[in-house]
Amino acid sequence: MSSSPLPFRAPDTAAHPAAGDAIARHARASAQFAQRDASARALVRAAHAEFGDALVQASSLGVEDMVLTDMLAAEGLPVAVATLDTGMLHPQTLALVARAQAHYGRAIEVWRADAAAVAAFAAREGETPMYRSVELRHACCAVRKLEPLARMLHGRRAWIAGLRREQSAQRGGLAARETDAAGRVKFSPLLDWTLGDVWHYIALHGVPYNPLHDQHFPSIGCAPCTRAVAVGEDQRAGRWWGEHDGPKECGLHVAPVAAPPRSIETTGDQA
Ligand code: SF4
Repeated sequence: MSSSPLPFRAPDTAAHPAAGDAIARHARASAQFAQRDASARALVRAAHAEFGDALVQASSLGVEDMVLTDMLAAEGLPVAVATLDTGMLHPQTLALVARAQAHYGRAIEVWRADAAAVAAFAAREGETPMYRSVELRHACCAVRKLEPLARMLHGRRAWIAGLRREQSAQRGGLAARETDAAGRVKFSPLLDWTLGDVWHYIALHGVPYNPLHDQHFPSIGCAPCTRAVAVGEDQRAGRWWGEHDGPKECGLHVAPVAAPPRSIETTGDQA
């Protein structure tokens, strides 16, 4: 396979803008907020009524997903909340798991990347292969994200995600309910929400959130692949910033997720 040059390097933390209050910066309810809030609640209730225990919220622990976790709790819906630990997350992101569990009084499933597969990949490609080529970045995402996601979703027939149309051109054409080739349904209750709506909800309900958002990280992924953004930059400019042509996605939301082989079905532990 030929490799694509990737002018992508470790984030320059010295260049980060000064920290500020993300709520003060972003919380601006749109005129449609009340209607959007009601529609999102109706969708999660309908999803639970249809799928019951076969429904999961796949949370990135980003601010949209924190809204959804709060909404599920507020609606009294016993939907499992699950997240991925790629082994590359910021400490603030890992700490948010414990904060959210304490806040909502319920466990969050943590599905970890397969240690043996990660070790083999690192031994072959080094610790930061994502800076060398797009292909290696995708390979890293496959090992650290897609494989544990497949285990998370195995046996589940539907999932809830925090996608919004305005986040990227690729997400602009999404529908609030989509079914993949394997028949699994993905619900996106916040599709029409603005960033201001999201932060308004966070402020209104006192939802815990990642303090990195206060440091100008609108979208938070793995530490090597996430940086702060400057005022006026695109909301996803801080993700894989060397990639200008392809969809800046890790694959979680662009393709059906294959079922895992049975030998790794039970390796995702739950915290
Ligand atoms: S986002 Fe970066 S560190 Fe995380 S899995 Fe993808 S390439 Fe690897």
